[in-house]
Amino acid sequence: MGGWRPGDVVVLRERWRGRVWAARPAVVVRDEPEVRMFHVPAGTRYAAARGPDGSLLELPEDGWTLAHDARAPERVLSFAWPGVAHAVLLRFDPADRFLCWYVNLQSPLEPTPLGFDYVDHLLDVLVAPDRTWRLHDEELLGEAVRRGLLSPAEAEAVRDEAARVVRAVEAGRPPFDGSWTRWRPDPGWPVPTLPPGWDR
Ligand code: MG
Repeated sequence: MGGWRPGDVVVLRERWRGRVWAARPAVVVRDEPEVRMFHVPAGTRYAAARGPDGSLLELPEDGWTLAHDARAPERVLSFAWPGVAHAVLLRFDPADRFLCWYVNLQSPLEPTPLGFDYVDHLLDVLVAPDRTWRLHDEELLGEAVRRGLLSPAEAEAVRDEAARVVRAVEAGRPPFDGSWTRWRPDPGWPVPTLPPGWDR
């Protein structure tokens, strides 16, 4: 496992209670001891959880199914660090203009034979190019606690992590210093697709 090279395709999977909740193919930009970076081109097809009526779900309910029919709306360059409970996603529009940093609170990546798994922590921090920020999906985190999907202590740890992120944003620490906002992928890289076995 591991030892991915730039240009390799991996699967980044979200799990809820051991089951796959979403699976996104991504191109490896860097796989180094201190940082992992991935690129997802706009339009990349991925699998997402849908409820019995076919709607995309925000929280797990009994009987969700994985539909391999979602498409990444924007291209994304993401960063994850060992032992750190969030990832930073840089989003770019179709003209390659930097849109924002999207900080996804999540468990640290766990290597799998095809890539990496993690658990999404629901709360996000959205950071504009001028580094003004706002929390996203605070209500969803509260709802998850009410439904017993997260304990109050787990939710508190997620809020603490968000507070650490906000301090890094306000201090302009990398990558919130604007480094990487003009980064472009290698034009020779593939549009990634989910490899066989992604749902096991
Ligand atoms: Mg999230």
